[in-house]
Amino acid sequence: MHTDLFIANEWRKATSGQTLEVMNPATEEILASIEAAGEADVDAAVMSARDRFDSDEWRRLSARKRGAMLYRAGELLAQRAKEVAKLETLQNGKPFFESSIDIAMTVETLKYYGGWADKLGGNVVPVASGDFVYTDRVPVGVVGAIVPWNFPLNLASWKVAPALAAGCTVVLKPAAETPLTALVLAEIIQQAGFPPGALNVIPGRGTTAGVALVKHPGVDKIAFTGSTEVGRQIMRHAADTMKRVTLELGGKSPNVIFADADLKAAVRGAQNGIFYGKGEVCAAGSRLLVERSVHDVVVEQLVARAKKLVPGDPFDENTRLGAIVSRRQHERVMSYIVAGKSEASLVAGGNATSVNGKGFFIEATVFDDAKPGMRIVDEEIFGPVLSVIAFDDQDEAIHIANQSMYGLAAGIWTKDIQKAFRVARAIRAGTVWVNTYNMYDPAAPFGGFKQSGYGRELGREALDGYTETKTVWMGLR
Ligand code: NAD
Repeated sequence: MHTDLFIANEWRKATSGQTLEVMNPATEEILASIEAAGEADVDAAVMSARDRFDSDEWRRLSARKRGAMLYRAGELLAQRAKEVAKLETLQNGKPFFESSIDIAMTVETLKYYGGWADKLGGNVVPVASGDFVYTDRVPVGVVGAIVPWNFPLNLASWKVAPALAAGCTVVLKPAAETPLTALVLAEIIQQAGFPPGALNVIPGRGTTAGVALVKHPGVDKIAFTGSTEVGRQIMRHAADTMKRVTLELGGKSPNVIFADADLKAAVRGAQNGIFYGKGEVCAAGSRLLVERSVHDVVVEQLVARAKKLVPGDPFDENTRLGAIVSRRQHERVMSYIVAGKSEASLVAGGNATSVNGKGFFIEATVFDDAKPGMRIVDEEIFGPVLSVIAFDDQDEAIHIANQSMYGLAAGIWTKDIQKAFRVARAIRAGTVWVNTYNMYDPAAPFGGFKQSGYGRELGREALDGYTETKTVWMGLR
């Protein structure tokens, strides 16, 4: 297991003299003590990315070769999938089967962008003067990628892969809670043939390393996933140096069940929408909107399912609900449950639990009789807590669905095709799932409306965030 910073393809001690303790949230054991980047370490990482980006060698490296290296990185990760999934579960607390899905998606993401690297071209532009004008897509430069702890490696790949494909160089700062798999990515990117400086990985705290990266004049773009609060700060800090910024922030996504839906599938979708990943998912379907005529039956079935989801050892293959990532997050989620008890009706869960007397576990929790204006309905909890809201008709469902400062994702359950299209169009969200939930693919763009951020990750669209358009005029008169 690597515990040093990865700068210029070398493993280095932090000059800050600081370390981070990485804890297994399921057992409260310390997994590792990791070097924590300070300002001078961030500077060294940025300079390494800068030097590489500005080098002739990098400019001359063909896009096809970069693509092949990314694809190779995907293959190398696939060979180590089990080991890396284990590490992800150890540091995050999610069930091992979920980590295996995360690593498989990371492999796909690396390979997918490997395929894009040599397909980014420009256009010839017909202009009135008769000159020859063309556009080129050029890399935006040095990218500072800041990622959270909920999908540590996967979300890192959503930034690192398109950035490298576009010809950028990257400084990646993983979350302080979950830096271990990002360090494996560093190793793999190096093994795949990327030269020193192409990817630097510097674990550190948000308030020191994160802020230093955002403020650094040598960084051209910040790609961030995390809380809306920190997203706002990043925009402010980035303004001074006019950095490009893309933000993938929080959500309070509505999952809407109409009376005509396949209710069995809808309830399964509601369960998966909130309890997959312990609800620590930016697109979690944390507001369940249910048409009043089926409300009672849906809640009854959902409660029965929630009660079966006993939090357990993440390495037990029967476990479907793991440990909350940290003591801090556990306290945060529990404080929302306390607030919810005074606002709405608790119908399932609501308790903190442990496994063998240890760990930060929380039962699958469902609140009924919830309404907009309540904290559990308006604020992102980021835990296994669902609020059920009844509605009477389509217009009311759309109104409640949009009654949020967020707009990341939404779900719709209906057999009526017109209703599905109409509601999908009316909901202000970056992703709408119809008769399914929590589906992702490297080819399908993902990102938020409103205060869920801007810019898109994944798909062709993500590459827009890592390139600038250059217009060249060849005077012919
Ligand atoms: P956070 O936003 O504080 O942290 C995310 C990343 O940003 C981490 O790498 C962190 O070190 C870094 N960071 C923190 N402060 C920074 C700053 N001032 N400048 C630059 N980087 C900084 O998220 P968190 O504290 O880990 O979680 C708090 C809440 O954020 C959660 O409860 C949840 O609501 C939300 N969240 C959302 C997502 C998402 O995917 N949208 C992911 C994680 C957390």
